[in-house]
Amino acid sequence: MREKLGVLRELQDIDREMKQFEEQKRTFEARVAEKKQELARVQEMVDALADEMEGLKSTRRELTTSLEEEQGKVQKSEARLPEIKTQKEYVAVLKEIDTAKARIREIEAQVSEIDGQLEGLSSDREEKEAELQTIAEAVETSQAEVDTELATFSSRVDEISGRRAELLEQLPAGVRKRYQTLISRRAGIAVVEARNGACTGCNMHLPPQLYNDLFKVDRLLDCPHCNRLLYVVEQG
Ligand SMILES: [Zn+2]
Repeated sequence: MREKLGVLRELQDIDREMKQFEEQKRTFEARVAEKKQELARVQEMVDALADEMEGLKSTRRELTTSLEEEQGKVQKSEARLPEIKTQKEYVAVLKEIDTAKARIREIEAQVSEIDGQLEGLSSDREEKEAELQTIAEAVETSQAEVDTELATFSSRVDEISGRRAELLEQLPAGVRKRYQTLISRRAGIAVVEARNGACTGCNMHLPPQLYNDLFKVDRLLDCPHCNRLLYVVEQG
C-alpha cells in the first residue's frame, strides 16, 4: 500500500499543477476580458460623439438650405425695386428684404454656433479615438501574452495528462474512485500530509492513535474531519 500512496501523491501533485493552470488561465482571460470591456466602453463614447456630430451636421445642412432660400428672396426682391411704381409697394418690398436679411443673420448665428459645437465634439472625438487606439493595442498585447502562456500551459498539460492516466491505471478501482471523489468534493485536494499531529488539508488535529498509525500501518488512512487521504513524511 505504501507504493499506492506514492502513486496517489504523484497524482495529487499533477492535479494540483493542473488546478493552478486552470486558475491562471482564468486570471489571464479575465484580464483580457476587462480590457475588452474598457475598449467597448470607449468605443461607445466615440460612437455617441459621431452620432451627435451627424445630427448637428444634418441640422447645419437644413440651415444652409434655408439660408440660400432667404438669400434668393433678397435678390429677387432687390431686382424688383427699380420697376416698382407706387410708394406703398416700395415700402412693402423693402420690408420683405429687411425680414429676409434679419432671418439670414439669425440663421448665420445658428450655423456659427453649430460650427463651434462641431469643433468641440471633433476634438473630443479625436481624443477618444486616440484613447481607443491605446486600449486596442493593450488588448492585443495582453491577448498575445495570454496566448503564449496558454500555449506553454497546453504543452505541459499534454505532458502531465499522459502521466496522470498512467498513474490512475496503477490504482485499484476502489482507491481510484475514492481519489476522484475527493478531488471533486474537496476543492481538488485529495491527498495531504499529516504534520505535527494535524491534517494539513483541513488543519484539524488528528486522533493521536491515527497519527501514530500513519507511521506504522501499511494501509490507506484518511482524515476523520475532511476524509482526505493522509501521508506522513518520515523525519530525518
Ligand atoms: Zn483533514
